Amino acid sequence: MKTLSILGATGSIGTQALTIVDNFPDDIKIVSLSAHANSEKLFELVRKYRPKAAALTQGEVETPEDLSFCSWYFGKDALSQMTKEIPSDDVLVSVVGMSALEAVLAAIETNKRILLANKETLVAGGNIIMPLCQVFGEKANLIPVDSEHSAIHQCLLGKNGNAFKKLVLTASGGPFRTYTKERMASVSVKDALKHPTWSMGSKITIDSATMFNKALEIIEAAYLFSAKGEQIEVVIHPQSIVHSMVEYDDNSVLAQLGVPDMKTPIMYAMFYPKRRMSISESLNLANVGTLTFEKPDFNKFKALKLAYYALKAKGAAPCVLNAANEVAVYAFLRGAISFMSIFDTVEHVLNMDLPKVGTVPEILNADLWARAQAEQYIHQNS
Ligand code: MG
Repeated sequence: MKTLSILGATGSIGTQALTIVDNFPDDIKIVSLSAHANSEKLFELVRKYRPKAAALTQGEVETPEDLSFCSWYFGKDALSQMTKEIPSDDVLVSVVGMSALEAVLAAIETNKRILLANKETLVAGGNIIMPLCQVFGEKANLIPVDSEHSAIHQCLLGKNGNAFKKLVLTASGGPFRTYTKERMASVSVKDALKHPTWSMGSKITIDSATMFNKALEIIEAAYLFSAKGEQIEVVIHPQSIVHSMVEYDDNSVLAQLGVPDMKTPIMYAMFYPKRRMSISESLNLANVGTLTFEKPDFNKFKALKLAYYALKAKGAAPCVLNAANEVAVYAFLRGAISFMSIFDTVEHVLNMDLPKVGTVPEILNADLWARAQAEQYIHQNS
């Protein structure tokens, strides 16, 4: 029996992870759960899974009397505190945002295995996190949950000591794949929230529409698998069946395929290096019929260009790209800026004199700095 902590238990990944836990009651025991603001849902989960601890990151609320068996953590340090104090074998980090960085460090410190579904951690803190982590083998303490990185992780198992030549990240292209740049300029929030293949939270759905999601994944892949920017390629694959690929020196390309269902990469990470019987649908290629691939339009999806730029620029650039994008996405969602302004905002902040980063506090400061700059730019231009 393995013990598992889920940070972000009420979100899309957390909910799917709990469905897996429900299907493997003899293998996984939940020891702690967290949510940001949805206290009612968290109370319900605590009643069902009876964890040792639970956390609400938005702040303190009154907890029902029947849930006093559980230790409660509140506020912005709740995740790292709970991770430090409550023993568990694995921690699924499926919260959105920078709060995950300190929780991930706490997990490393207390020898827990991290199942990482949070992008900010590696994008902003990859330089600090990766030297402390191993992603392969029995001693692996960081397993990616993102479907693309899970795919690459699986394709790299076939490397047998050889170097890889190229990592190929697939991207659905989002809802605006076939739009012209002009048409993209006038899309609404509702249009952007319609993802063709994956069902996810609103931040990541907008990130898929702008392809900033892929931009963050390029940076994540560079850190996770020690790849240079020029070794990472993005190809548009609207069916989302090929989850990513690795090309070796002999031009052999290994790919991982499956139906677009996050339960597969979550389960892969949970049970790695074992593979357990899936609870999702099996892939039927004859039913899928056609798989297509196309080159991404870097002109239309400037996010990709900015990702390669940030990787080259190093230092605070990846962290700044992430922070400015997050501010811009929420500004777009509340109707303050247009869709294309998301790109302008990120580019504007990336082009400024960036703060220096070498420590966790410096990264957190750079993140706050970039957010403030993005807010200011949005305010001045709307
Ligand atoms: Mg992904």
